[in-house]
Amino acid sequence: MKLLIMGAPGAGKGTQATALAERYGVPAISTGDIFRYNIKNQTPLGVKVKAIIDAGEYVPDDVTEEIVASRLAEPDCEQGFLLDGFPRTMHQVHFLDRYLAERSAPLDAVVSLMVQPEALVQRLLARAEIEGRADDNEDTIRRRMEVYAGQTAPLLFHYENKGLLVDVDGTGTVDEVRQRMFDLVDAHVKA
Ligand code: AMP
Repeated sequence: MKLLIMGAPGAGKGTQATALAERYGVPAISTGDIFRYNIKNQTPLGVKVKAIIDAGEYVPDDVTEEIVASRLAEPDCEQGFLLDGFPRTMHQVHFLDRYLAERSAPLDAVVSLMVQPEALVQRLLARAEIEGRADDNEDTIRRRMEVYAGQTAPLLFHYENKGLLVDVDGTGTVDEVRQRMFDLVDAHVKA
């Protein structure tokens, strides 16, 4: 199974990605987690991307694509993977399309978690209290929403045109959304 999960900041992407990856027995690969790990450990990559991420902007495509390519080359990705938070730009979409085409390994589904914008900011501010992420403050949250709407939301059309999109209503409890997502993804991959 080769899956992507997309959603605005606060849509519940990370939480549901973990559940989906477990269900299909594939590794969940979160570019955001990889960046945060590198920032925490002050690696050269972490030092390079910290200010960008703290401002709510996107890390440059070449940097992000290199990280994804080397992660996908690891043995645990041979049977499949779930990418959480990648691709986020059209450049990254083309990169991934090419990468998978060269390996004759097409995607099975692209999950889109949809939540109304008003609910997203509230969820992120609540998460800030719990997780203390540096990019979960009100200004950065608004910037991340704008960047998502401008650069990432349009990518959904690309996957819709390819017949890969699975739209999941992300409102409700974590358990409700998870079950809804499992049912829709199961139906999509069986079809
Ligand atoms: P996330 O945990 O997915 O919300 O990602 C946190 C932050 O990491 C984003 O706001 C971006 O600054 C950066 N980031 C994660 N994935 C990407 C990507 N595919 N392209 C560019 N920047 C990314």
